Amino acid sequence: MGSVKDYFSSLGTGIASLVKGLTVTGKEFVTPKITEKYPENRETQHVAQRFRACLELIYDKDGRHKCIACGTCERNCPNGTITVETKMVETPDGKKKKKLDRYIYDLGSCTFCQLCVTSCPTNALDFSNDFEQAVFTRSKLVKQLNYLPEVPDPEPTPEELAAAEAAKKARIEAAMKAAAEKKAAAAAAAQSDETPAADKPAEGEAKPE
Ligand code: SF4
Ligand code: SF4
Repeated sequence: MGSVKDYFSSLGTGIASLVKGLTVTGKEFVTPKITEKYPENRETQHVAQRFRACLELIYDKDGRHKCIACGTCERNCPNGTITVETKMVETPDGKKKKKLDRYIYDLGSCTFCQLCVTSCPTNALDFSNDFEQAVFTRSKLVKQLNYLPEVPDPEPTPEELAAAEAAKKARIEAAMKAAAEKKAAAAAAAQSDETPAADKPAEGEAKPE
């Protein structure tokens, strides 16, 4: 008798479990589908803002980036993904200044560790979340990040030019003065070496008037 009771008890439990499962299935059956239809949904697809897809130089609205070509990112990159090529330019005050020539980034070897971004002293770098980077040739993964034409620095005002010219003149005069002093000191030392020992006053002896 007991076994018949157990039979119907377990049958009831099974049916309850079946109904519970079918309820979940039924709910999912009528729930709107969330399948991403890529690439048809390219325009509306949401990609997390912080997703690291590709390194880029940040340009402002005037087409300028903030890279000062210091090379910190290149040195910090653990696998040589970055190459910073520089050039020397002359500023209006006659000084030499290092500037960025080409910023080369190999997406194919990047591990997206973000060391380059966090170590950049001018916050010139960031990762875009543009994930569509598939290509058929590896060489196409090597990108020049400073892709816009270089915006020339603003023309210096007449006052700035005059100040730069004065600074340049002062530097030249200071250098000439230092060179003359060095030459005079060298000449005095040479003359001192040529003076015969007999003519030199003995230590502690008063110099002849
Ligand atoms: S991106 Fe930043 S760290 Fe790299 S060279 Fe330019 S300024 Fe230096
Ligand atoms: S994210 Fe890491 S691996 Fe990629 S370029 Fe920057 S430092 Fe190099």
